[in-house]
This record gives sequence, C-alpha cells and structure tokens, in this order.
Amino acid sequence: MSTRRKFMRSAGIISLAAAGGLASCSKQSLKYGDRNFNFNQQAFLFPKLKVSHDRVIRETVGLRPFRKTGFRLEKEMLDQKTIIHNYGHGGSGWSLSWGTGNMASDLAVATGEKKVAVMGCGTVGIATARLLQKKGCDVTIYAKDLHPNVTSSVATGTWSPSSRVIEEENITPEFEDKWTKACNFSYNAFQQLLGLNQIVTWLDHYRMSNSESYSSSHSSKLDIPGQLTNNEIVSPENHPFNFEYVKRQTTIVFNIPSYLEKQLNDFLKYGGDVVIKEFKTLEDVDALPEKCIVNCTGLGSKALFNDDNLMPISGQLSFLIPQPEFNYRISTPDGYAIPRKDGIILGGNAIRGNWDTTPDPAQTEKVVNALMDVMAQMKS
Ligand SMILES: Cc1cc2nc3c(=O)[nH]c(=O)nc-3n(C[C@H](O)[C@H](O)[C@H](O)COP(=O)(O)OP(=O)(O)OC[C@H]3O[C@@H](n4cnc5c(N)ncnc54)[C@H](O)[C@@H]3O)c2cc1C
Repeated sequence: MSTRRKFMRSAGIISLAAAGGLASCSKQSLKYGDRNFNFNQQAFLFPKLKVSHDRVIRETVGLRPFRKTGFRLEKEMLDQKTIIHNYGHGGSGWSLSWGTGNMASDLAVATGEKKVAVMGCGTVGIATARLLQKKGCDVTIYAKDLHPNVTSSVATGTWSPSSRVIEEENITPEFEDKWTKACNFSYNAFQQLLGLNQIVTWLDHYRMSNSESYSSSHSSKLDIPGQLTNNEIVSPENHPFNFEYVKRQTTIVFNIPSYLEKQLNDFLKYGGDVVIKEFKTLEDVDALPEKCIVNCTGLGSKALFNDDNLMPISGQLSFLIPQPEFNYRISTPDGYAIPRKDGIILGGNAIRGNWDTTPDPAQTEKVVNALMDVMAQMKS
C-alpha cells in the first residue's frame, strides 16, 4: 500500500473519530451491557424456539434409579467374590458418574485384582470402566442393554448433581461428604471433555416464573457454590420473556449420543471388552470369571440385589427437530427446553414409583403448549 493511501486511511479514521464515530468508545463512557445484547443490532440474541406439535420427532420415558437414602457405594462379599456397588443415582447419575466411578474404582483397585468386571453399560458403568482402565485394570463390561436402550440414553443430560439424589431428611454428614467429593471429581472430569466435538458444552439457563419461588427438583441442602456461575436475577429490560421473575445461570449440558459413543469407543480402544449378558440371579453374578465385580446396573439392582430402597421416578421427554441457532435453555413451571445436538429436549415431569415407560401424549401436549405460549409472548 502506498504511503499516500496509508495516510488517507488513517486520516479517515481520525476524522470519523473526531466526528463522534468513536467518541462513545472512550474509557469513561464504555459500559458493558448484558452479555446477550448485540451492540451492532441493538437487539437481544435470543433466537426463538421453533416449537409446535408437528416438530415433535420422538418421545421417551426413562426411569430414574432413585434411592431414598442416596446412591449405594460400598463393598459386599458374595461367596469368594467382591461386589462393589455403584448405583441408585436418581436424577443425578450423569452428573455424578465420574465421581462415584472414581470411588468405586478405588475400592476395586484396593482388592489387588487386575481383572475386573463391570456390570452395566449406562453412563455410570462406562465412566467406572474407563477409570478402572486408567488405574491399570483389565476390564470387561457385562450388560443386557447398551445405548440407546439404557436409562442414561433417555436423560436430559445436564449438570444436576443434587436432583432427586436422596430424600432430604436422609442427608447425613457421611453422605454429604461422599456427594461433595463425587461432585468435585465429576465437575473437573467434565471440563476435560470440553472442546471434543461438543460432547460437553456450557450454555445459559433462564429460569422463569410469575411467583418469587422457582420450582426446582434440586436439593435445597446440597450445594457447592462456585461450580456454576452465580444464579443472577435478570431485569426485564435485559430479557425478552413475559415473566415477572427471570434468573440466569450458565450450566453444563451433555450431548448424550455422541458422549456415550465416545466413551464406549475409548473403552474398546484401550482394550476393554463388552459382553451382552443378563443377570437373572445372584448365581449368574457368582459365575463370572472375575473375582472383583463393580455393580452399575442402576434400577436393575432392585430385583437382582433385592434393594427395597430403590424405586423408579419416571420422566418423559419429547424431542423437537434440532435447531442449531437455539442456544440457550429455558425452564418454566410447566416444562423446559434444552438444546442438544440430537434435538431440542422438552421435559419436566417426574412420577414416583411409576414403572410404565409408555409416553403419555397428554404430557407432550402440555409441555409443547406451555412453550408455544412462552414463545408467542416473547418480546421481539
Ligand atoms: C427423564 C430423565 C432425565 C434425567 N436428567 C438427568 C440430568 O439432566 N442430569 C443427570 O445427571 N441425570 C439425569 N437423569 C438421571 C440419569 O439418567 C440416571 O441417574 C443415570 O442414567 C443412571 O445411570 P446408570 O448407568 O446407573 O443406569 P442405566 O443407564 O440404567 O444403566 C444400567 C445398565 O445396567 C444394565 N443392567 C441392568 N440390570 C441388568 C441385569 N439384570 N443384567 C445385566 N445388565 C443389567 C442395563 O442394561 C444398563 O446397561 C435423568 C433421568 C431421566 C429418566
């Protein structure tokens, strides 16, 4: 570029600045608005959710493996075999999988056995199996079903470590200690998975309500401040929703199909074996060649290990056609929408003791209608 043209260009910039074009960028007047505000378009960056009944592509009902006294993480002897239980995570199995998997794998390693069996191939079983491999064990997973036919495949897949994880009155200092350690380990494990084809992502979650209390499935006693961003109140001029109270928190989402595929592929890549097998009785478990067995069968443990404490809490999800530009999560008292790569997940119900996995059209209709209302009333 000639010296003259260079001069003309910088002169142009200076004259623009003098005319006020850049004056608003002076340090004194620079104000950082809401992080979702686009300064160029003078508009909020809230793409509308395309929600209608004809956009529903599938419905699922999953059974959360809830234990009134919290997940079971302990050693038990079955004849000459050591069984290490790691099941009963309720609505928080995705979130806690690495943390309780770490504790269960430590118990297995302490037996001195190098060949270890893992029963179950949901998110808890796979995480446990990978951690055992990392600790030098030769691992075989035995399971009657794999993704997409496990409870883990029909979860929403968000960071929710205190959701339906224990009955509030049963929280003991010992449980709280285990839970805290599990949360911390898992939280760090998920940060290591960022950037890997978006199997784990962070996004903003807007919770809205017309009363000051926000409905939540999360324990009010179990909390680790500082993991997610502050749960901040958003003033009406900073959001487009027609609700009196709106809160925002940035949270973690797991893109379930690609996540499970990656973890299972890693397990196989590092020499793991998967055997399709159903355990009907404890004799079937006893017949395994491995002397150390980690039990990650989720709700399957109820019949197999006669656990009266374990019960299902069903949850129905409806999937809308994927919409890549819809990049935030919303929760209303009547249902939520969460963007994942395989679709927009609509959900929000929980029925204790329900074993029926048939989707109820009325539940889908309720959530779709509620979210259609939210979108129709959204300020543009
Ligand atoms: C609607 C819904 C939403 C949810 N949302 C979230 C969320 O956002 N965040 C979160 O952290 N958690 C969430 N959860 C909870 C989470 O999905 C569960 O806690 C988790 O999937 C439990 O994982 P798991 O590996 O223990 O069990 P599963 O995924 O059920 O896996 C159990 C494995 O054991 C095998 N098995 C069972 N019995 C036998 C047997 N007798 N013989 C051989 N194999 C057997 C099964 O085939 C399977 O391979 C949600 C759950 C539901 C239903």
